[in-house]
Amino acid sequence: MPTIEFSGREIAQGSLPPLCMRCGKKATAQVEKLFEVQGDADEITTRSPVGFTMGFIQSFGRPKLCLRAPFCAAHRGHWRRVKLLIVAGLVPVLLCLFSLAIVMVRWKDYADTTPGAVHGIAFLVLLFGWALLSVLVYETSLHPTVVEANRLVLKGVSDGFIRAVEQQRRRRKSGN
Ligand SMILES: [Zn+2]
Repeated sequence: MPTIEFSGREIAQGSLPPLCMRCGKKATAQVEKLFEVQGDADEITTRSPVGFTMGFIQSFGRPKLCLRAPFCAAHRGHWRRVKLLIVAGLVPVLLCLFSLAIVMVRWKDYADTTPGAVHGIAFLVLLFGWALLSVLVYETSLHPTVVEANRLVLKGVSDGFIRAVEQQRRRRKSGN
């Protein structure tokens, strides 16, 4: 998927071409998006649930880059939709887990019965499906691959938008 790199200065100026970052059509809105600057410890902390939680807590104190991203009417809710889809996908997983827990409290040998085994397998399948869906949705969405104090690399950007940014950069370089 096409990738674009912004400098800290470009992000601060916020004067990106008025084209949708996702499809390249005329932009009708600017969406402010915060990207958390990655720390050195990220590599290790995201590998375990405990590390992930610690990283999440630490992230509140981390500096963030604010990008004013141009979008068309159809894509202005792009990031919100991605988040919603991932959260909504978790609902059946949790429902299955809770129902499993409730039945097991009342029926001690439930795990050893056929319905119990099917219930358990259903939970694992849902969990795996959700993990897969989340990765797919995120990877095909507009998402950062590098977030540094002075550099932001975004993946999933439209070719039309990239061309317009390159044109803008050339114009600025030549002083027009
Ligand atoms: Zn669009």
